[in-house]
Amino acid sequence: MSDSKPVVLVTGGAGYIGSHTCKTLKRARYRPVVLDNLSTGHRWAVKWGTFVKGDLLMPEVIDRVMIEHQPIAVIHFAALAYVGESVRDPQRYYRNNVVGTLNLLDSMRRHKVDKMVFSSTCATYGEPRLIPIPEAHPQFPINPYGRTKLVVEQALRDYGSAYGLKSASLRYFNAAGADPQGDIGELHEPETHLIPRLLEVAAGLRENVTVFGQDYDTEDGTCIRDYIHVNDLAQAHLLALETLDGGGGTQTYNLGMGRGYSVRQVIDAARKVTGKEIPVVDGAARPGDPPKLIADATRARNRLRWEPEYLEIEPLIETAWQWLQHRLKHKEKYAD
Ligand code: UDP
Repeated sequence: MSDSKPVVLVTGGAGYIGSHTCKTLKRARYRPVVLDNLSTGHRWAVKWGTFVKGDLLMPEVIDRVMIEHQPIAVIHFAALAYVGESVRDPQRYYRNNVVGTLNLLDSMRRHKVDKMVFSSTCATYGEPRLIPIPEAHPQFPINPYGRTKLVVEQALRDYGSAYGLKSASLRYFNAAGADPQGDIGELHEPETHLIPRLLEVAAGLRENVTVFGQDYDTEDGTCIRDYIHVNDLAQAHLLALETLDGGGGTQTYNLGMGRGYSVRQVIDAARKVTGKEIPVVDGAARPGDPPKLIADATRARNRLRWEPEYLEIEPLIETAWQWLQHRLKHKEKYAD
């Protein structure tokens, strides 16, 4: 094992986007060290680098990792990320997402680690006033989840001015797809996202999918979202890290493809990819779902030289479909 590679601490590295990012880091010039409490992540998803089980609400655990592994930077994914749950139980969200991050930042200061790439979200914008959404768009999140992410973005900016922290907040649009080599993929319990739900129906695990709302002010009446492949997201984390390495300040980037698909278009694409009928039923709109979310990701393309690969939705769904079939065939490997 080459221990001379610079270590990057990846909190939440056992989760969906975190695990794909670890693979990307490992293939570049880094050694990921994953810190994850496995509340939603999976031990099997940590395949690249060292695993430490621990929680950001335990500062002594973070300090121990810093001392033992001496990371040069932190990529911070660990957070709770269910909008509905955040409305019902905001205390857990503020404690995990805000207090946990402050503990991490304190430890970084104690151990002189001055670079962080942070998992933020387009949910920090709230109801968009402008499409595509640029980074300068006003941020008025409409649920506690989005507000916890915005608080952290603001803390990073303040820590940048006062303590010289270099940070990049990456505002994700709709992450989807799976590693095309089949090493890892999405597995949420409960599964709330559209694409994996559609594929679960195609695989016979679920009877149908409910379309949330048909009367939106869009062409076919269903919500439009900007779906981005998880490996394209992972690549942007690597590029953001390298930008901080070479200079820095406080940066924010939208990560989306700059184009949208309606729920009905995603359903059609999933039917085409799987060759299955995928029954759907019409249901009520989900509270807090804006009609249209599309990124203006020009900044990431220009400043990070980010070149996402998955421009169309079908190849993206194909990777998720391959992964689900693989996971069902090898259930024993993905039991934890
Ligand atoms: N959606 C749906 N049925 C579902 C899950 C999602 O109609 O079972 C819709 C949802 O209202 C949104 C889009 O699909 O417009 C994407 O939802 P998802 O939960 O995948 O991501 P989000 O946009 O909430 O982050």
